[in-house]
Amino acid sequence: MRINGIGVGRGIAVGAVLRMAEPIPDPLDSPRVADAATERSRLLAALAGTAAELAARAALVDGAARDVLEAQSLMAQDPSVIDDAARRIDAGQCAERAVFDAFGSYRTLLEGLGGAMAERAADLDDVCRRTVARLSGVKAPEIPASDRPFVLVAHDLAPADTAALDLDRVLAIVTAAGGPTSHTAILAKQRSLPAIVGAAGCRDLADGQLVVVDAPAGCVVADPSRAELAGARARRASADAPCASTPGALADGTHIPLLANLGDATDASSALALGAEGVGLLRTEFLYLDHQAAPSVAEQTARYADAFRPFTGRRVIVRVLDAGADKQLAFLGHEHEQNPALGRRGLRALREHEGVLGDQLRALVAARDLTGVELGVMAPMVADADETEYFVALARSLGVSSVGITAEVPSSAVLADQLAPLVDFISIGTNDLTQYTLAADRMLGSVAAFQDPWHPAVLRLARLVGQAGATAGIPVGVCGEAAGDPLLAVVLVGLGATELSMSPALLADVRAELAGHTLAQARELAALAVAARSAADARAEVSRRIARS
Ligand code: PEP
Ligand code: MG
Repeated sequence: MRINGIGVGRGIAVGAVLRMAEPIPDPLDSPRVADAATERSRLLAALAGTAAELAARAALVDGAARDVLEAQSLMAQDPSVIDDAARRIDAGQCAERAVFDAFGSYRTLLEGLGGAMAERAADLDDVCRRTVARLSGVKAPEIPASDRPFVLVAHDLAPADTAALDLDRVLAIVTAAGGPTSHTAILAKQRSLPAIVGAAGCRDLADGQLVVVDAPAGCVVADPSRAELAGARARRASADAPCASTPGALADGTHIPLLANLGDATDASSALALGAEGVGLLRTEFLYLDHQAAPSVAEQTARYADAFRPFTGRRVIVRVLDAGADKQLAFLGHEHEQNPALGRRGLRALREHEGVLGDQLRALVAARDLTGVELGVMAPMVADADETEYFVALARSLGVSSVGITAEVPSSAVLADQLAPLVDFISIGTNDLTQYTLAADRMLGSVAAFQDPWHPAVLRLARLVGQAGATAGIPVGVCGEAAGDPLLAVVLVGLGATELSMSPALLADVRAELAGHTLAQARELAALAVAARSAADARAEVSRRIARS
């Protein structure tokens, strides 16, 4: 039996299934039997228990997982939820249903806000389910315990579950729900764990059943034949072969620089240790999300110099502030927008605050001069030649010698032949390019299936940029998540990308995959992908061709 889904990473795992229990059902809307005061104190005890449990889990982890768990712990203590649930109890509901409905209306509110707030809705559901489980006296579904390695099969994993994952035991993850940007997918990528998400058919898998989880092929093979098992093991062995941290290169020696995506200076040294040849994207807006006033040139210079220092003598590409949509910066002002992703974002907002943009460019030049990096500066959300010329002229006038743009608005890819001669480099932002090409909000789980950079429409736009870059003789990078998907990275090189930038944890897998293909083969794979009818077909065609070769 073959079950299809969205593959994450390039790993292949073989093992026995262990299922996580199905989510507990919605509580019945039954009237309370106890008096209101008793139900209210049950409610408060359950919420306090959930908050404490999530806070305790937060204390065991760090980074993004800790932030999510701490935020969830606060959700369980949110006064508006407590008041709403208490009112529902007073009106006659039992505590289970009252808290379920109170979280439900909170959820609707968050979804209405859109963007990053809507993304929190799934975290809220997890808090709600844990609280209802406590009130009902049942255990919330947990990662099953086993002393043997296993393939974890679940409906979906909440942040609290993923934080508790024992990587010595879990060989791979298969979930029925979730898209390529779900928590499960992000965690799996960070930890190089093979995963298939959105695999609805995995509900038919039983505990103990042997499966092959083939992330590059985006499928799970249940009860594999001997030949299928041998094939999977051979491919896994070659993927596991150690690969030294050499510069990125194709099998024919073509150098494809492998660069790091960074959000701040703290990741810089670890990126180098993981083999980053430079930085392909420093997202600067994350440094200032908590600032009410624009940072001074001196403050910015110091922060950029910290991030640059480990890369002296190497290429560092910085993106100027990409504010708007889900990343609002108070000092760039913002008005309510119906569709913020289509609003005053990126260069559009900076152009209205040229003083802020000018200061940032001055600080970047000063940090370059202090640290001796090979600085490139690029603008986000550039739509056409007018915006490109504006940014290039300003950046050059302030001393930036390598000026580029991101290609993430589809118009910039369509017009790449006009834009490439104006700049020193282009970097394809596949996250936004996919969102805008497929008209699918990247923050919205319900359209996650559309948010797939393997889509031939996205790849055809990337090809336009690759061709324009080659004609103009400038480098074309990719800095969206797609660059960290090893097979897709090969396809992007076949479409004309000359350098790839990604989360440092993904560098090794991409380096290993590139080494297995010549430029001519990458171009053949790219031709297959752009001719496909869908993202799934493109991925499957490319995987099949590689499996045959
Ligand atoms: C992109 O859009 O692909 C990108 C790299 O930028 P961000 O994810 O920060 O929008
Ligand atoms: Mg972007």
